[in-house]
Amino acid sequence: MDILITEELATSAIDRLRRQHRVVCDGTLWKNVEQLKAQAADARALMVRNQTLVTADLLSAAPKLIAVGRLGVGLDNIDVEAASRLGIVVVAPLDANAVSVAELTLGLILALARKIPLADRSTKAGGWDRKGCMGIELDGKTLAICGFGRIGRLVAARARAFGLRLLVFDPFVEANSAAFREPGAVLRPRLEDILADADFVTTHSPLTKETRNLFNAQSFAAMKHGAFFINTSRGGVVDEAALLAALQSGHLRGAALDVREIEPPQTRSGFDTMDNVILLPHIGAATTEAQTRTFETVAADLDRLLRGEAAVNFVNFARPKR
Ligand code: NAD
Repeated sequence: MDILITEELATSAIDRLRRQHRVVCDGTLWKNVEQLKAQAADARALMVRNQTLVTADLLSAAPKLIAVGRLGVGLDNIDVEAASRLGIVVVAPLDANAVSVAELTLGLILALARKIPLADRSTKAGGWDRKGCMGIELDGKTLAICGFGRIGRLVAARARAFGLRLLVFDPFVEANSAAFREPGAVLRPRLEDILADADFVTTHSPLTKETRNLFNAQSFAAMKHGAFFINTSRGGVVDEAALLAALQSGHLRGAALDVREIEPPQTRSGFDTMDNVILLPHIGAATTEAQTRTFETVAADLDRLLRGEAAVNFVNFARPKR
């Protein structure tokens, strides 16, 4: 088998791959580790989204594997180090989703500021609650951005157009970097330095050992009273219990979460009944444009690798296979 697809993918996309390669697709395979291992044993390439855990154990059980194609950006479900050690190239379309996620982030900021979901729900229920839907303007307010990579910078560019002042925290970005060429974004050295003055806080860092629960009781306490919090990065970056407590106490005015600690959540949570909380089912990259770009980029690279050529969008330096 050339390519093993372990999660749901549009039939048209699979058909296109089948024109050139022997493809096996089982959209539920990611749920069953043993079956996944058994199938991977015969695969030359894996194509995964964010639910398949591509562990060292799985990669070791797949001796023919030369490539893993990640249909998305976060690499937290892939043991990239193990892949490099085993001579497996990991490809990911790092630029494919950024615009979609940035646009969604601005959508959520506006939706929180103007209570759009609440206004929609109450009007459809027969209400005409103009007082209860009183909001705030973005113009002149401050947006704190944690993580100033591709998405963080696109959010900044769009936020400027709304008149938001920008505070940035990113331990790997220098103040004299190209990211700050446009005026208006101020880099601060510690996370807490951007929290106290911000009306909105949005996070765009990857999920790593360092960023797990980066937003916890302490960071929410450091935020301004009445601020809003937005997460379109990874659920694990936020301690959800601490966020809920900050909302229940009234310290935070509202929150929007595209991503969750456990996806989909296995139990109902306190967020579900809160009018000032917007919950989405991880749709940051769910646009026609982003999905097309993502698939095209990964498919082209897997095709290159399967034909013995070099990948363009690789994210690791794989040790040559013996
Ligand atoms: P990127 O790698 O371009 O940017 C991430 C930035 O975070 C980098 O500048 C990095 O220096 C910074 N960073 C690293 N550690 C940090 C820390 N401890 N504190 C603060 N900043 C830190 O990635 P990107 O393309 O901008 O994507 C960001 C994240 O968004 C991805 O890792 C992914 O998890 C998430 N994402 C979500 C969706 C969605 O559907 N909601 C879609 C795409 C990406």
